[in-house]
Amino acid sequence: MFCPECGNTKSPIIEGICQNCFLKKISILEIPENIEVVVCAHCNAKFEEGKWKESEIPEEEIIYRALERSINVDPHISQDKLEIELEIIQMRGTIAECYIEAEAEIFGETIKQSFESEVRLLRNVCPNCSKQQSGYYESVVQFRADNRELTQYEMDKADKIIDKTLNNRFYKDKLAYLVQKTKLKEGYDYYIGSYKSGKKIADAIKEEFGGIINESPRLISQDKSTGKGLYRIWILIRLPKFKKGDFIKYNDKYWEIINIDGKRILIQDLDTFEKIPLQWKEYENIEYIKEEKSIQTTTLISKSPLNMQILDPDDYTVVDIPIINEYFNEVNIGDEVKIIKIENQLYLLQTEK
Ligand SMILES: [Zn+2]
Ligand SMILES: [Zn+2]
Repeated sequence: MFCPECGNTKSPIIEGICQNCFLKKISILEIPENIEVVVCAHCNAKFEEGKWKESEIPEEEIIYRALERSINVDPHISQDKLEIELEIIQMRGTIAECYIEAEAEIFGETIKQSFESEVRLLRNVCPNCSKQQSGYYESVVQFRADNRELTQYEMDKADKIIDKTLNNRFYKDKLAYLVQKTKLKEGYDYYIGSYKSGKKIADAIKEEFGGIINESPRLISQDKSTGKGLYRIWILIRLPKFKKGDFIKYNDKYWEIINIDGKRILIQDLDTFEKIPLQWKEYENIEYIKEEKSIQTTTLISKSPLNMQILDPDDYTVVDIPIINEYFNEVNIGDEVKIIKIENQLYLLQTEK
């Protein structure tokens, strides 16, 4: 056997020619000179195989991935004997000039080749971004307080919660955006791209402050071809009328609010100091009585086995308070004590020592 190209009779024949000639002819890679990628000008989502995919990938990464996808390796070369280096030499507008270096080992010999290719980014707007631009929204989060105005702290905190929630969700939900924030006399309305993200925002606000969430869907339009309705959901989050430290009536007893969170309200019985957690669904059964500011200070003037006597801070009359629990033993004559007056009755409050 001899090589029809060079007449060599010594080296092995591969696909009809000698190994030397074969190695001279082989191209390690095949790569198109021009590659096109359609990307969203706003979020860098790519349009591939008829679908918009992934976003928030840096432009450089999109170019490298487009190159990698377009490369074909000669079937005589095994992957583990191959090294490819990709480099963007320069950007000309939306065109990336790329340099590709390949090094492969084949039949015990190392060959090195370089290639050039241009990746063109075609700018477009993906459907999610076009929704955002057109002001599309599926939910309105109505932020309110029950029977009172929102405090500045609550409003500022809510803004931060909304920012954080939307940022965290953007990978999962491309409609996690705020279209508009409207200030009303009674609170704020936040227009949110998707219902799911609107719901997450209401949940996160409740987690922070507690409160009650109500949803009311409204039919916005109907798809004529499918008959399916497009709903927009109004999500009302109402912060409680009371806050930590306030006093309430529940189950015909008076209680102090010890703590509030998204799951429950921890309350303490003013008579027995017993603490119980209340679910938010009990909210409508809670009567707001007095705020923390109404707490007064007075002095314990005397003590007997069953009662202790304190001065009513309003008129300085002496009032008997029955000793009904352990804590009362810790208070001594002459001590300053905190009390709350509800319906003309004084309740001694447990204070931290
Ligand atoms: Zn040859
Ligand atoms: Zn986009």
